[in-house]
Amino acid sequence: MTVEALSYAIDDQDHLIKVDEGYYRFAEENGWEGAGSSLGRSLWDFVAGHEMKKVQRLLLKRIRDEVREVELPFRCDGPDVRREMLLRIVAHSSGRTVMFAARLSAETGREPQPILDPGAPHGEDLLPMCGWCDRFEVDGEWLEVEEAARRLGLFRRSEMPALDHGICPRCSKLLATA
Ligand SMILES: [Zn+2]
Repeated sequence: MTVEALSYAIDDQDHLIKVDEGYYRFAEENGWEGAGSSLGRSLWDFVAGHEMKKVQRLLLKRIRDEVREVELPFRCDGPDVRREMLLRIVAHSSGRTVMFAARLSAETGREPQPILDPGAPHGEDLLPMCGWCDRFEVDGEWLEVEEAARRLGLFRRSEMPALDHGICPRCSKLLATA
């Protein structure tokens, strides 16, 4: 059984300033290289993929500037397990420090030969995004990043859909009348 909870925090420059015991144990169980020297490193060293980084940066900005707190499900598979976690991200009341607290919600063993996940997105998945207001279109609705992530289970997917940069109707109208 995996470590059930872990937490870490970043400063205003997105550098890891605090990690707890759970973080180290989790890192060890999952064979993360160099986890012991995580402190002081950029959070973005640990996020794979350009699109994923982009969406997570947006989310972090929203949390710091607007919503202050978000809880989202995300996938964090280990070498032999499929793991669902719940991540709570909270902006500290003073300054730009942000705390992350993750807890395990479900864990199942993984087949050595992974079977195709019917819920997995296809490579051609496109997620429309407005380049002006940074909202995303989900089922015909334009949503802020945290709501889009929740509805689409963005961080639960093994693969991010590609972002399709465009403009939403609201921004399009604003620009037309400017
Ligand atoms: Zn827009």
